[in-house]
Amino acid sequence: MPTPIQSSQPGPLSRSSAEKTKSTATANREWRCTRCQKLLGVRQDTGMHLRFARAHEYFVGFPVVATCRGCGTLNQAASTAR
Ligand SMILES: [Zn+2]
Repeated sequence: MPTPIQSSQPGPLSRSSAEKTKSTATANREWRCTRCQKLLGVRQDTGMHLRFARAHEYFVGFPVVATCRGCGTLNQAASTAR
């Protein structure tokens, strides 16, 4: 009765390479909910970078209107934050 050999290979698959938290000056670019301060998106020079679920990212132009997924508040972002 042959015993089934289970190949337990340590798969070095790093699929979340975009999860790197760079400590660059992104704090000022964050677009947060006006009510619960949840992060809605990150400002870029040419638009707003919205990230929802893991693989769902959107890059939209200004002005941006989005509802917070946490509290449902309608948030609006203009082109530049002076
Ligand atoms: Zn909110």
